[in-house]
Amino acid sequence: MISRHVKNVSAPLAGMVLAGVFACSVALASTDDPDPGGSGAATLSANHSGQSEEPAAAEEQDDAEDAPPVLPSDCKPEEAAELEYANGRIPDEDLCPLPQEDESLRADAAAAFYKLNAAYHEEFGEEMCVRSSYRGYEKQEELYESMPAGMAARPGNSKHGLGIAADLCGGVEDDESAEFAWLEDNAEEYGWIHPDWAYSNPYEPWHWEFDVGQDG
Ligand SMILES: [Zn+2]
Repeated sequence: MISRHVKNVSAPLAGMVLAGVFACSVALASTDDPDPGGSGAATLSANHSGQSEEPAAAEEQDDAEDAPPVLPSDCKPEEAAELEYANGRIPDEDLCPLPQEDESLRADAAAAFYKLNAAYHEEFGEEMCVRSSYRGYEKQEELYESMPAGMAARPGNSKHGLGIAADLCGGVEDDESAEFAWLEDNAEEYGWIHPDWAYSNPYEPWHWEFDVGQDG
């Protein structure tokens, strides 16, 4: 005899519907892992043994960069004394620039100055300081009018107007300084002198001249 066993299939459906309400929003958790994905793995092979790219000719450090400048090649010292310009009327092309910016002299005075400047540099480790050098006529007039009497030459009489005088600074303006003393001892060897008058009348320790025999 077979007993029929009948299950009770009446499931409680109501519970299944409610379960879905809480099932959402589980997947929203983010991650900070950048996940490199292994993309850099293939680049190591480029590092081959080629070490030959070193700068082969490393520049040699010599002392040339420290050396004072030399006379520009277009200066013509051997012709300068023959050029007879009036005081304060030397044209630019017959003036020779000094290493010091905006300063210039007659070419023979400039050539001597470059040598003196180099010797000075060797002694003091720096180039000479120049406050004033060649002065055109108008500049002489301007100075004559603005300076106290006796402190500037009458226009047309200044050695600056001949391009053979320089007013120095950097210590030379003080006749007790080592720079002044050195120039007193050495300038003449390079053709530069401190004229007698400049010791007292007026007192101008800074004023130096290229020696063209003007004192003798
Ligand atoms: Zn002067």
